[in-house]
Amino acid sequence: MRKLAAGNWKMNGTVASLAEVQALIAAQPAPACEMLLCPPATLISAIATAAHGSALMVGAQGCHAKPSGAHTGDLSAPMLADAGASHVILGHSERRADHGETDAQVRAKAEAAQAAGLVAIVCVGETEAQRDAGETLAVIGAQIDGSVPTTSTAANLVIAYEPVWAIGTGRTPTLSQIAEVHAFLRARLADHIGAQAAQVRLLYGGSVKPSNAAEIFALPDVDGALVGGASLKAADFAPIVAALSAA
Ligand code: PEP
Repeated sequence: MRKLAAGNWKMNGTVASLAEVQALIAAQPAPACEMLLCPPATLISAIATAAHGSALMVGAQGCHAKPSGAHTGDLSAPMLADAGASHVILGHSERRADHGETDAQVRAKAEAAQAAGLVAIVCVGETEAQRDAGETLAVIGAQIDGSVPTTSTAANLVIAYEPVWAIGTGRTPTLSQIAEVHAFLRARLADHIGAQAAQVRLLYGGSVKPSNAAEIFALPDVDGALVGGASLKAADFAPIVAALSAA
């Protein structure tokens, strides 16, 4: 399978940020892995235009479960595809926490995304309290069962394991903790969607940076990364893409 380096810009970036996109394409013109940036929706079209003909793909950070209608302020999956997106991040812990997104809502959005031809990047992960209580695998298993459409394929589903306590904190799990969760994810996904699970990309996310990328990418069942802060600057994201290309 081709590995995936995905950047999540969250609520950061303006037209001026297109310079970082150009710098990233220049630094990584032909990576051996897939390379994706998920900017705010305001920039999808401009980045898709800037990235045309390059190896860089563009994604979104969320979508509505309906294709159109009276939902002021929301964006549908077909709209995101129309703007040039190929992927959409769903169920990020910030959406689950800030907007109360439930597993059922994430699953409905993932179904809508896949129906619109987008790859759904479904995020799962435990809080620090859940890890301390020994609930990590139970929490993640329930999120997989609840958030992932059973009809998903390796072509339209990516899973991102993002421990909530590792996002934006500079803290990461130990390598054995990451490996344990990814092995569990592969098995649980096989129970949930069947044989396609073997080829679904399983990303690790949470304080990935150039200095720790290579050791994380060397782990079994780690097929890439979802990167927040370190995806904002080409100088940080390009070496992460390089490390994944070399893994
Ligand atoms: C994220 O938000 O998906 C993320 C992993 O953030 P960071 O890399 O900044 O921890």
